[in-house]
Amino acid sequence: ARARRGLLRQSRMDVLSIATDMLGPPAPGTGLLSLIVPVYDEEDALIPFHARLCRTLAALPCASEIVFVNDGSRDRSMAILCGLRQSDARVAVVDLSRNFGKEIAMSAGLDFARGDAVILLDADLQDPPELIPEMLAAWHAGHDVVLMRRRSRDAESRAKRLLAGAFYRTLARLGAIEIPENIGDFRLLSRRAVEAMRRLPERSRFMKGLFAWIGYPSTVIDYDRPARCAGHSKWTYWRLWNFAIEGITSFSVVPLKVASYVGIITAVAAFAYGAYIIVKTLLFGDPARGYPTLAVLVLFLGGLQLMALGIIGEYLARMFVEVKQRPLYLVQRHLASTQQVADARPPS
Ligand code: UDP
Ligand code: MG
Repeated sequence: ARARRGLLRQSRMDVLSIATDMLGPPAPGTGLLSLIVPVYDEEDALIPFHARLCRTLAALPCASEIVFVNDGSRDRSMAILCGLRQSDARVAVVDLSRNFGKEIAMSAGLDFARGDAVILLDADLQDPPELIPEMLAAWHAGHDVVLMRRRSRDAESRAKRLLAGAFYRTLARLGAIEIPENIGDFRLLSRRAVEAMRRLPERSRFMKGLFAWIGYPSTVIDYDRPARCAGHSKWTYWRLWNFAIEGITSFSVVPLKVASYVGIITAVAAFAYGAYIIVKTLLFGDPARGYPTLAVLVLFLGGLQLMALGIIGEYLARMFVEVKQRPLYLVQRHLASTQQVADARPPS
């Protein structure tokens, strides 16, 4: 009976995987393209962004929808989005209940997008919409994921470039996950890849890592990333630092192991030092020195212990957040696009 149950489960999984495999790219000119745009305080960028995007979309052979995710903007962004939706039937707006951060805003966008292919792009025109036809061509060529790699980071400060490089090398060396360098969130995902992303339930959403984790055939297109068209970047150094910790702790448990190795090495060294003191005392007597050594050792070990506790704490905190099973985001309002799209999948 157990064997039969196993067989049944296997065949059910086969059916599932066949069903998802059938969601490959449709022929050029058919299918729906969804654009997901996270928006946080972008009142000056939205209208130029929409105008430029429309010029590109008009030339596309397929239908499209634009899903703006308003991530708790405090300025007039939401009002502008509502205005855009009134003038353009392709626009849908998902208004989150507060600011959840770009990673979660993108996840919300993936949940609400109905397209056969989905492109994530920023509202500040740093991801040029003119590249969309090229991305679509790569998708039709059979790639599930089309990654956009910026040619240079010249527009950014030297410090930021150095830190970014160091971060990606650390992540790769920790054996966590191979994230190609200079690749942002600007990318195309096939429906199959979107469904894979939606099956990842974690609250710690280091999207670059998750995107890399799902695999599937992918390709890379190089482009020049321009500077922001209006407003300012929301990434402060403190936010970037936390983002880096998030990335490492979501994909690697090596830091946890470091603590035990450092502990073993320290213990061996302490044992050797103890033996040395015993021998020295036996041979030369005990002139009661060594107070500074003691102080240094105590502080050193105290520091190591606190550091190890801190590392455990980082993981524990993430488990704490995870076991609470809170929803990823809350939607205040969902304004669907007003256009009729024949082959659109209903949001589930
Ligand atoms: N963004 C967001 N929520 C946030 C921060 C940013 O939705 O909490 C959006 C922002 O509106 C923009 C995109 O994410 O469309 C990229 O943000 P930003 O330009 O500040 O980042 P950078 O380009 O400097 O990496
Ligand atoms: Mg930007």
